[in-house]
Amino acid sequence: MNRQFAAAAFGALIYFGCVIPLSAAEYEALRQKMVREVIAASGSSPPGASVVAAMEKVERHRFVPAWLSIFAYRNHPLPIGHGQTISQPLIVARMTDLLKLKKDDKVLEIGTGSGYQAAVLAEIAKSVYTIEIIEPLGNEAARRLQALGYDNVKTRIGDGYYGWPEAAPFDAIVVTAAASHVPPPLLKQLKPGGRMVVPLGAPFMTQYLMLVEKQPDGSVTTRQIVPVHFVPLRGGH
Ligand code: SAH
Repeated sequence: MNRQFAAAAFGALIYFGCVIPLSAAEYEALRQKMVREVIAASGSSPPGASVVAAMEKVERHRFVPAWLSIFAYRNHPLPIGHGQTISQPLIVARMTDLLKLKKDDKVLEIGTGSGYQAAVLAEIAKSVYTIEIIEPLGNEAARRLQALGYDNVKTRIGDGYYGWPEAAPFDAIVVTAAASHVPPPLLKQLKPGGRMVVPLGAPFMTQYLMLVEKQPDGSVTTRQIVPVHFVPLRGGH
């Protein structure tokens, strides 16, 4: 009996420890610390003020499974189910910063995942369109973003390789899964003067974050930024 009681008490401790582990103020403090760490780790390319403000605001612990919420403010990727991950905060900061968003911008994201990157974009830009190929993940992210009041984010289930033609053109496009090449439909949906950030690399090879800029005259320049590690872009293309 005593052993059963001890086991139940231990179970309750683990359960409540995981489900309601920290207060809002504690999460807030951890979030501030995470942002400072991200800035420190960014070295000579620190994120701009708008990116810092967005990351200080978006509650990353609401975008990870409840049992992982105590780890939400570590500068690490975390599993979100279906073999996918929420990206590392450092990379979210870098990708968002590279887009050089303005407050009237319309942004397309490929790979909604948890919805965290979409929320960060939505804090800075006017509207965000985000596409997820795994239906349950996309539905969960849509519900989460709605519950958190992100009315300027539109979600869709589908293959992001083909973009969102009805909403094009976009001022900025961010792809959060690694592709083997820059998807031509996305390039087409980017405004002249617009910026796209996309991880490129063949499976099992080093991937690089690429900055693709469409010049006002329509010509395209591509710059390699940093080596990265992303889940692969899926789909039928
Ligand atoms: N931006 C996400 C991280 C996503 S991980 C976040 O902030 O949490 C990459 C996501 O891309 C995964 O959820 C994966 O299912 C999705 N994905 C992979 N290929 C895709 C495709 N062709 N179209 C849309 N989403 C895709």
